[in-house]
Amino acid sequence: MKTLCIDLGGSRVKLAVVDAGCIEEMRIFPIDHDSPMSEVLQSVESQARNLPSVGGCLGIGFAYPGIVDARRQRVMAGNGKYTDAATIDYAAWARERFGLPLILTNDAAAAICGEMAYGAGQGNESAVLLMIGTGIGNAAYSQGKVLTGKHGTLGILGGHIAIAHEAPRRCTCGNLGCLEAYAGTWALANIAQEHPGFKDSCLKDVERIDYCALAAGCAAGDSVCRDVFDGVCRALGTGAVNLIHAYDPEILILSGGASHIAALRTAIQTHIDAYSWTPWGHVQVVTAKEPEASVVLGLSSLFEER
Ligand SMILES: [Zn+2]
Repeated sequence: MKTLCIDLGGSRVKLAVVDAGCIEEMRIFPIDHDSPMSEVLQSVESQARNLPSVGGCLGIGFAYPGIVDARRQRVMAGNGKYTDAATIDYAAWARERFGLPLILTNDAAAAICGEMAYGAGQGNESAVLLMIGTGIGNAAYSQGKVLTGKHGTLGILGGHIAIAHEAPRRCTCGNLGCLEAYAGTWALANIAQEHPGFKDSCLKDVERIDYCALAAGCAAGDSVCRDVFDGVCRALGTGAVNLIHAYDPEILILSGGASHIAALRTAIQTHIDAYSWTPWGHVQVVTAKEPEASVVLGLSSLFEER
């Protein structure tokens, strides 16, 4: 079933026409997460109408980076992104603008569905996904189904489970000590600048301190980059063990922009092997097969299931 899939991120939108897990075409365009959703939808519509194969689509899948009530097809909260997102009737938009039915879901939940159906999770019936990007996204899959819960938050708030309680860092969600406040890309600049050696580090000249900048600094022997990277890895390892203890997965899937950094996967695996209580064996960390496409593939799989 050919589906128009919309992956709305914090800074870009991926639009794809997908048929049973095969991406026929995909376009990416930038977006400002301070824009109102009504404007975003206008941009999405005009970009989608330029996709040559959009005419054959039978449904629209829409992934949103926040809390979504998939049953009522409403956005519940976006932590400041896309101000009017919770006021929009997305199903009505899809029907009125395209004449198509809609599936609305959280982006990490869509990503884990894509990886289980077509990617790194194939052959397993349970997994957790950790999506490392501007924030820390997460989703859980158990006994063949993605978890959603009564309010749409089951399995998706792993980035906002506290990993520290003494002098905890403040998170954008309002909680103290969240994993995201120690490992989301948005937090890395502050963490680095608090390091006593920051002024002698290569990071002081870096325009955007992200995972790639840290990895490059580590490779060049920068000790501040090494300290910050090690701290971030401990945070992610602690978060990963929490998720394993909470959701009983067979595998942990790393996704997002930083998931290609091999040292990150190795460090998280080492932490899991040392600290998780899984007497049946260690949960293996695997990298998403297609981190850039797992969300749109997941949206397609949801239509295939339906
Ligand atoms: Zn938080």
